[in-house]
Amino acid sequence: MSVSDKMGELLQALSDPGVSGESDNITRRMVEECKKDYDRNRKIPPELNQEYVVLTSKAENVWEDAKHNDDFASFQPYLEKIVAINLQFIDLWGYEGHKYNTLLDMYEPGMTVEKLDAVFGTLRQRAVPLLQAIQASPHQPDRSFLQQQFAKEQQKQFSLFILKELGYDFEAGRLDETVHPFATGLNPGDVRITTRFLPDDVVSAVMATVHECGHALYEQNIGEELYGTNLAGGVSMGIHESQSRFWENMIGRSKAFWNRYYGDLQRHFPGQLDSTDVDTFFHAVNHIEPSLIRIEADELTYNLHIMVRYEIEKGLFDGSMKVADLPEIWNAKYKEYLGIVPPSNSVGVLQDVHWSGGSFGYFPSYSLGNMYAAQLLNTLQQQMPNLFELVEAGNLQPIKAWLVENIHRHGKLYQPNELIRRVTGEELNPEYLIKYLEQKYKAVYGL
Ligand code: ZN
Repeated sequence: MSVSDKMGELLQALSDPGVSGESDNITRRMVEECKKDYDRNRKIPPELNQEYVVLTSKAENVWEDAKHNDDFASFQPYLEKIVAINLQFIDLWGYEGHKYNTLLDMYEPGMTVEKLDAVFGTLRQRAVPLLQAIQASPHQPDRSFLQQQFAKEQQKQFSLFILKELGYDFEAGRLDETVHPFATGLNPGDVRITTRFLPDDVVSAVMATVHECGHALYEQNIGEELYGTNLAGGVSMGIHESQSRFWENMIGRSKAFWNRYYGDLQRHFPGQLDSTDVDTFFHAVNHIEPSLIRIEADELTYNLHIMVRYEIEKGLFDGSMKVADLPEIWNAKYKEYLGIVPPSNSVGVLQDVHWSGGSFGYFPSYSLGNMYAAQLLNTLQQQMPNLFELVEAGNLQPIKAWLVENIHRHGKLYQPNELIRRVTGEELNPEYLIKYLEQKYKAVYGL
């Protein structure tokens, strides 16, 4: 039905300037979003779509085995085919400038290679020297206190406590346990969170919970006038990720936050953290070190992991890179950006699931999330100069209210770039993330 001729006629009628000129904002945007999906889906012949769905579902199993057995060769033909069909899709959908732009637009409407090259270029230029300075610093964190067993039940209790503090609505969601944490929203009245409790790591579950809570707060606080429409959700992957990273990194890894909540953490694990003071704990949760696995990376090196994937995706779609060469290219880029080389493809080019499902253009969203979050933090601090005093007092509700007012309630009413401009007064600017990272880590590492 969604790609039927009838649907096309209806959308055509609603898009008519005479009609859309008289429509309210919400209706106009609903039609716009719907028409975008319709046009995109209509252009793909059903047989090609079917072939692709079968291919990607097989590819995911093949990828799993390939990763497990460190066997890139078995995954290679699948990845080649997935790229080839995506190139066909791009030709059918059409593109402006770089072919990869069409894929980027699926996750971050309006994003282009031109814009990303500029922001990533600036970020990289400043992130790499900062990382080098951090690595050379004699002031490294003491993380020995982390090497003990933390009871799962107590970890869960602390996660639930923090969720309440953040303003997560338990009448419209719940917390469960999983292997890979995620948040999922059925509608604003039912947005669930999962987290992961590692017995020997007390920090992991808290941070995963705070991260997923950031996603959930977004979905729980969509404006009521958008309920039941196609605008009732996060506007893009990048903006969604900005909400999770804002809470996880900018608030959840701040000194103010732990000044307030470290005592509560200590009380949840009687006797286990008594000899560790808040400064030691704070430095440990902000430990920076190049690592091989993206999902375990700290907030500075994370962006470098993304740049590797971005450059490879760009190369695959402009024809300058071949799938067969990816293990070699991957390792060379890790050496160049992070100074480390994966000992196997399992922890290198095969580590992420995304490509097996054809999700090209998705990775940049993670870094965009960091950049949007820092830009929002900058604006929020101007409007709320006592921001971190509020955090230190455990008064997080004004912060949540600001995000609801400026971001959450709008759902997909504004395009990402429009939304960011409305809230911060300018387009995406990587300078805010760079300044945030430099300021924070120069203090943490005594540079
Ligand atoms: Zn996330």
